[in-house]
Amino acid sequence: MSKQKSTILMFGVPGAGKGLFSKKISELLNRDHVITSTLLKQIASDPTHPHSEYVRKTMAEGGLVKEEISIEATMGHLLSSKKNSVLDGYPRSIGRWNALVKDVRIDLVFHLTIPTEEMIRRQQSRWVCKICREQYDDRTPEGKAIIKTKKCPKVLKDQNEKPMVCDGELYQRDDATTEAILHRKEVFETETLPLLELVREMERKENRKILYEVDNNKPIIVVLKKILEILIEAGLS
Ligand SMILES: [Zn+2]
Repeated sequence: MSKQKSTILMFGVPGAGKGLFSKKISELLNRDHVITSTLLKQIASDPTHPHSEYVRKTMAEGGLVKEEISIEATMGHLLSSKKNSVLDGYPRSIGRWNALVKDVRIDLVFHLTIPTEEMIRRQQSRWVCKICREQYDDRTPEGKAIIKTKKCPKVLKDQNEKPMVCDGELYQRDDATTEAILHRKEVFETETLPLLELVREMERKENRKILYEVDNNKPIIVVLKKILEILIEAGLS
């Protein structure tokens, strides 16, 4: 059976630039920019959804939503959307990967890399929205102005596709210590990096290039140029 939907994946340590570049690619290719935490937030805000209560409680406590619910939310969205997608920071486990490749074609996988010191610097200047997880950087003037208000200005869509301002509280993670950041890097390396081996396996099986490592310790425009070349080479332009 041929798969109806296809996706581009974005991997990288926290702070590697996944959010920025998956947004850019989805705009350029007219794709859906899919962030699982945003989908979960929609579930939490929809009282008619069977998992609404559980998801709201888990997210409010800062916990991780069960894998099966995260898969259901993401796959449900990918398969019902009219567009192909760019997945931002998903999948993070082999279970999620298996569920994804069963029904969706993987066009490309980007692995964004940055040196550890830059990863630490970026995370320590970053403020996050408690609700939609959007990030703001206090090293930029726009970021600084938004952070001052402590409110997230991002426009999200509710279940009926109506725009709504997120308005979530912005906070600086109290675990932005160097030690905690290095721990999250370690978690990425032990839980997510092994998925790249599965991507390489897919490359061999399907006899096509899928995985691209992109150095993001460069000006945005240089990184974007590199990404555009890859998209063109893959015939996705
Ligand atoms: Zn927000």
